[in-house]
Amino acid sequence: MKGEQMSAGLIQRLCASIENRQPMHMSDLSEFIEGVAQRAFPVEEIERWLKCVHTHGISVKETTALTQGMMNSGAILDWQGPTNVADKHSTGGVGDKMSLVLAPALAACGLRIPMLAGRGLGHTGGTIDKLESIPGFNCNLSPERMKETVEKVGCCIAAQNDAIAPADGLLYAIRDVTDTVDSIPLITASIISKKAAEGLNALVLDVKCGRAAFMKTEHDAIALAKSMVATAKGLGIDTVAQITDMNEPIGSHVGNALEVLGSVRVLQGKGSNDTRNLVALQGGQLLALTGLAPTLEYGIDMVHEVLENGKALDVFIQMCVHQGTPPSIAEQLAEQPEQVLPQSNHVTTLLAPRTGYVQSIDAMALAEVARELGAGRFSMSDSINPGIGYVIETAKNQHIENGKTWISVHHDHELSSEHLNRLQNSLTIDDQQPADFQRLITIVT
Ligand code: URA
Repeated sequence: MKGEQMSAGLIQRLCASIENRQPMHMSDLSEFIEGVAQRAFPVEEIERWLKCVHTHGISVKETTALTQGMMNSGAILDWQGPTNVADKHSTGGVGDKMSLVLAPALAACGLRIPMLAGRGLGHTGGTIDKLESIPGFNCNLSPERMKETVEKVGCCIAAQNDAIAPADGLLYAIRDVTDTVDSIPLITASIISKKAAEGLNALVLDVKCGRAAFMKTEHDAIALAKSMVATAKGLGIDTVAQITDMNEPIGSHVGNALEVLGSVRVLQGKGSNDTRNLVALQGGQLLALTGLAPTLEYGIDMVHEVLENGKALDVFIQMCVHQGTPPSIAEQLAEQPEQVLPQSNHVTTLLAPRTGYVQSIDAMALAEVARELGAGRFSMSDSINPGIGYVIETAKNQHIENGKTWISVHHDHELSSEHLNRLQNSLTIDDQQPADFQRLITIVT
């Protein structure tokens, strides 16, 4: 009741300003964020404020103040020495396993990467769920443990927790169930507050765009990218956003343990070119931003080199060991990942129904079926089945013969004819070879 009395007047004032397009009082905004972080306000009041921001929007200055307040609501990692602390954030995709490869690759190039990552959201997979399919891997690191791991290994990947940006923890949980996720200022503050609390010097944002992204159009993806870049730069982080295609699944592996397998293949210097090239693009950008590479192209080459010479794989093993995986299992993971990772009970192969060029593979259709088969959640309490997913044997633009396997479906329960139809319909083949497929659409600086 006390919290209710305290917050009602405050939230009334904040909402009145937003509705009347008047600037919010910064002291009111700070008090609000502090109250959220301390769990001092009733959920309905917070929901009222979120709905108001979602409906009316807030200014760039207010978004920056909100982000800063959320960043300051918990621990902020501070780093001594060179300004080489960097990270990447993706707005979420299908087959988006970049972080698993990128963090060790950049550490092998000399950057420090204290990566905070999330679980799957909606149809998109989450880095933490993927890593938790590795035996023993512990994503629950305190800020101190994150720092220690980064100083020893060069990188860590940890789950968001209440020690860092706790205001976001509650705001995000309420947004998730009140249809207020898709708001540019709220997404900006949520993502950038956590990244800023990592104490970064440089950040690359992978803003996904297309049918399997939260931002369906280039226009919306660019608007979100501009907001995040401006806010992060306002907090002193050198930031670039890459807008990338999320119509087609990324690389050859989709699903939690399968994406770890696909990542290890790339770390072994093999695996999917699509995955490797996207990692190199993001990594090259960070190496250029931090001055470790003189140009983006040079940075891209540096990433390819550590993927080919095994240095990134070595860091990956060290990161696994520091985060709880027994050393013998980490070594085996690096050599024969399929021996260590959980697998599904069944694998069903689907065949190309005709000869021709692959026009598209509908990433959204694949993701929705995978989620229904157990790879994702429908409510926060659902547990995921790590072995479920796909190995995709072809890609947009490639030629395929009638009757050749185009996808292997990894599943535990029998596939219904409805699932089989939806999967088969996600592949489009035609006679004409489509124009070259480019993952990168544009860059926002
Ligand atoms: N990821 C986040 O961390 N926050 C958002 O608002 C959206 C995606």
